[in-house]
Amino acid sequence: MKIGALRETQEGEARVAVTPSSAAHLQKLGHEVYVEAGAGKAAGFGDEDYRRAGVTVEASAADLIGAVDVVAKVRPPSEGEIGQMREGQTVISFFYPAQSAALLEQAKDQGVTAIAMDMVPRISRAQKMDALSSMANIAGYRAVIEAANNFGRFFTGQVTAAGKVPPAKVLVVGAGVAGLASIGAAVSLGAQVYAFDVRPEVAEQIESMGAEFVYLDFSEAQTDGAATGGYAAPSSPEFREAQLARFRELAPQMDIVITTALIPGRDAPKLWTADMVAAMKTGSVIVDLAAERGGNCDLTVPDERIVTENGVVIIGYTDFPSRMGAQSSELYGNNIRHFMADLTPKKDGVIAHNMEDDVIRGATVTHDHAITYPPPPPKIA
Ligand code: NAD
Repeated sequence: MKIGALRETQEGEARVAVTPSSAAHLQKLGHEVYVEAGAGKAAGFGDEDYRRAGVTVEASAADLIGAVDVVAKVRPPSEGEIGQMREGQTVISFFYPAQSAALLEQAKDQGVTAIAMDMVPRISRAQKMDALSSMANIAGYRAVIEAANNFGRFFTGQVTAAGKVPPAKVLVVGAGVAGLASIGAAVSLGAQVYAFDVRPEVAEQIESMGAEFVYLDFSEAQTDGAATGGYAAPSSPEFREAQLARFRELAPQMDIVITTALIPGRDAPKLWTADMVAAMKTGSVIVDLAAERGGNCDLTVPDERIVTENGVVIIGYTDFPSRMGAQSSELYGNNIRHFMADLTPKKDGVIAHNMEDDVIRGATVTHDHAITYPPPPPKIA
């Protein structure tokens, strides 16, 4: 089959769905690989790099869509892009089907198969295709880099001839994929790192990474936000109050706060309140990775960097993976080519869209003129 990556059109999007190295893997599966001219430019891959990897460069989006069987993208396709696709063609990208009813209808009506990378089931076998995790990992790392760049001091403690410098104190709220990446990056820069999560099972992971788990003095222990399939559930009002009280104690001591707390299907919980920001030292930095879902901090403005009256920087950027376009494209390109490997079991360039396969079924949101979202729960953990 022929698979090709479109140039992303959303402003500021630096990623590309196929890189020269992922193209080589796709070719080993028996596919011919295409890209739209300039598709990799913002991520640091020139058209010549692709040509050297045996990729055909098409002049325009229309030419690319016309040439291939499978269109690969990062951002969800636009109505215009789906509109140019023909019956039997496949698009593979982030799709967010719960928020994209009109796009689902359009793909179904046109007989386009849509594969949503954000719907890959989070089961062990599918980890190599899990683009939510690969992007969250980058966002968590980049959050620390942004924080360090906005903090006027070292992260690491030092004893120098000019004076003794204490290590920066970093609090990470939410220790899922992004939070753990933040912990790793902050520890490696030499900070003293604290982390909190409603799921007590992450305490061991946090501690094994060299950070300190923040326990609550709460009679139900830290089990209230009980895990549901690895995700957090909303906390009881009492638990939330205990959590906020603990954060109020920590706020004046912390130099950096990185918030990543999310609950599936809901707005981000508000956990870092205006009074906590007011209690922080001048020069402290908050990076709110939950900004896109409303933010964990009361004062976060999505896509903005603001400075409060008391001199606290609050970063609400929502494009952290795109800020590391080369790295994100490399990992996203790998997620895509692993998915394509599942779709090409005989490595003969022939796609077998096996809807009995949990991973393919879970990620397929339209197929054969039907909307196939939401999928049934996966059979295997
Ligand atoms: P997420 O982005 O939904 O949430 C981020 C973190 O916020 C979670 O750890 C959650 O517990 C935490 N949180 C929610 N409410 C909070 C609150 N009030 N205070 C503090 N923290 C709060 O989660 P994620 O990063 O997508 O990962 C969730 C889980 O899924 C993890 O257990 C992860 O290991 C697991 N996972 C498994 C796989 C796999 O097996 N393939 C892949 C990815 C993730």
